[in-house]
Amino acid sequence: MSNSGHPKDHGRRRGLMLVLSSPSGAGKTTLSKMLLDEFSDVKLSISATTRAPRPREVDGQDYFFRTPDQFHEMIGRREFLEWAHVFDKYYGTPRADTVARLESGEDVLFDVDWQGADALHDQMPNDVVSVFILPPSIEALEARLAGREGSTPELVARRMEDARREIMHWRRYDYVIVNDELKAAYQRLKRILLVERLKRLRQLDLEDHVRTLLGDG
Ligand code: ADP
Ligand code: 5GP
Repeated sequence: MSNSGHPKDHGRRRGLMLVLSSPSGAGKTTLSKMLLDEFSDVKLSISATTRAPRPREVDGQDYFFRTPDQFHEMIGRREFLEWAHVFDKYYGTPRADTVARLESGEDVLFDVDWQGADALHDQMPNDVVSVFILPPSIEALEARLAGREGSTPELVARRMEDARREIMHWRRYDYVIVNDELKAAYQRLKRILLVERLKRLRQLDLEDHVRTLLGDG
């Protein structure tokens, strides 16, 4: 485990679903990567999709690549926590995979927009912890988008429009982080994770522990 430096929690725990959303360019990918690098027990959710694998994408690692028929069967069997039709392809979050991870004590990280965040919360209200990431200013957001590899002025303009629409949904989230200085923003995200792990419902040994404390175990 690479969680050196963190106080160890007592007993077994149920993992949590850490749902991160932000307008494109606010730093969601950067902050997610920092969390995944530091915490070996936080895992990125793997979606199923009907789109073709890109070079270097691996089935079961980047996505579960499925045919449209397979995907529709999965919808029929209610195997998704949420799914969406994006750019003519289907994408969805497999339920069994997520639940198994939570039960084994791993946290699952989701990088979804506000609609995905809402759907996940509807399905798993006790497991979802949602965090919205805001840029420090509109100028900073534009500069970050422009600085990204492959960006063009047209792409930046379109992303800025999308960003304004996404930002409007900030009130739906449990937590909001303004990503001003990266290290400080990351510390805020880490504090959310560490304190949410201590929620009573996530500490699985408490019933036994209290029974022992009261001498009727
Ligand atoms: P998103 O996943 O939300 O679209 P990224 O994580 O890809 O955003 O970040 C967009 C760009 O902004 C990247 O080039 C990243 O290095 C940079 N960036 C992220 N956070 C900060 C920050 N706090 N200060 C300055 N630049 C940042
Ligand atoms: P890409 O094909 O570039 O990997 O992803 C395209 C889009 O699909 C992105 O906007 C991504 O956020 C979205 N997406 C990926 N997985 C899921 C999922 O499980 N559910 C939903 N609703 N959208 C997803």
